[in-house]
Amino acid sequence: MIRYRLVCSHDHEFDQWFDSMADYDTQKAAVALSCPECGDTAVSKSLMAPRLSGSGGTVGSSADPVPPCGGGGCGGGMCPALN
Ligand SMILES: [Zn+2]
Repeated sequence: MIRYRLVCSHDHEFDQWFDSMADYDTQKAAVALSCPECGDTAVSKSLMAPRLSGSGGTVGSSADPVPPCGGGGCGGGMCPALN
C-alpha cells in the first residue's frame, strides 16, 4: 500500500491509499478519483513540501553556539570565555 496526497483543481488536499504506484495511474485513467469535498475528478498528486523536523534543522547548523575565542581573551570583559 502506498499513500498519496492528492489535490483537486480547487486546491482541496486529501490522502488516498493505493495498492501501488500503478494503481494510482489506473484509477486516475479511469477517473475513479474524486475530491471528497467537492467531487472534482481533476485530481493530481500533490507535491509534498519538504517539512523539516524543527529540531536542529536550521540552515548553517554547524556554527558554534559560542563564538570562537583566541584563548587569551578576545574582547576584554565581553569575552564569554572569561566568565
Ligand atoms: Zn475539491
